[in-house]
Amino acid sequence: MIPIRTVEVALGARRYPVHVGPGLLDRLGAEVAALKPARRVVIVSDENVAKLYLARAEASLKAAGLTSTSVVLPPGEGSKSLATFGRLVETILERGIERGTLLVALGGGVIGDLAGFAAAVLLRGIGCVQVPTTLLAQVDSAVGGKTGIDSRHGKNLIGAFHQPRLVLADTATLETLPRRELLAGYAEVVKYGLIDDAAFFAWLEENGPAALSDGEAARIQAVAQCVAAKARIVAGDEREQGARALLNLGHTFAHALEAELEFAASLLHGEAVAIGLVLAFALSVRLGLCPPADGERIRRHLARVGLPVTPPPGLARTKLIERMRLDKKVADGKLRFVLARGIGQAFISDAVPADALAAALDEALAVPA
Ligand code: ADP
Ligand code: ZN
Repeated sequence: MIPIRTVEVALGARRYPVHVGPGLLDRLGAEVAALKPARRVVIVSDENVAKLYLARAEASLKAAGLTSTSVVLPPGEGSKSLATFGRLVETILERGIERGTLLVALGGGVIGDLAGFAAAVLLRGIGCVQVPTTLLAQVDSAVGGKTGIDSRHGKNLIGAFHQPRLVLADTATLETLPRRELLAGYAEVVKYGLIDDAAFFAWLEENGPAALSDGEAARIQAVAQCVAAKARIVAGDEREQGARALLNLGHTFAHALEAELEFAASLLHGEAVAIGLVLAFALSVRLGLCPPADGERIRRHLARVGLPVTPPPGLARTKLIERMRLDKKVADGKLRFVLARGIGQAFISDAVPADALAAALDEALAVPA
């Protein structure tokens, strides 16, 4: 039997456990009941995930003496809109909630962000349990309390910090995840190695391919390791005033690529992150901060598992830089990058010379994809 791994997110009165392992969905009822919620909980999910896992979630809650009602939304980033959010909170209020009601977010990052934000604002804040079912959500978005929706001015511009009460990352649910979504989430896994854990990156070079195919033990190990890294960073800087910004490694580039492509389905967030990681290291190499061999190792590993490492064709450097200037992470008009002195040695810099940035982008854009 594969044991369940537990990581604590140490946030004082708001601390909570993240359980990682296969079959946790069937423990949802017992785990939620232990939080002593009001008897009725509300599950929020999307159509794809509901088809696969909602009945099991409901059965588990019922077996623990809880009744549940569920709200099922259309899948996809399009649901992170004010319109869908409005419908979601009105529907939940219609069903009748009280302070002790818990929301259960059953799904990927989209559902986690939406339901988490609903929990943050309903009755000025009720409890939320995250049950992430994508690799991206398990290793990143379900842990740390960032919630929110998109505005027509940009992604995630409307939101709140609202920590969950509990996270159940059932790694067995990843078995039904489309391969492309699994790979996209893997880019965020690699990110943790690159930030501050060179040994983990080396482990991924050995075990990443197994974690992405049928290696259940490797997959659990990878998810647990990422959750531990995220928990540590979040506990040290809950509201991103310092070190939490390291989690944006690769993301200044990724967000610019996604925005330039108008968030088309041709480039998933995690795919943009893979390209962004390569670009962040290419820039670090160009600035003489990082050994070229490290950049090469990263590119090789990402390409080997099947992630893109060069930007899609047809993008203009000037447009990408313009997008970076519009990013919400810009402070005082200065671009902020996460750079690295090597694998596992990331740091934050707001002193990147414009010509080096331009040259790094030109080089990447010149490579045929
Ligand atoms: P992310 O977690 O990457 O932010 P989404 O929440 O949009 O992304 O989920 C990506 C897609 O995968 C959506 O279409 C969603 O319905 C689907 N999905 C989520 N979890 C699973 C799963 N365990 N099995 C199959 N499909 C899933
Ligand atoms: Zn990301």
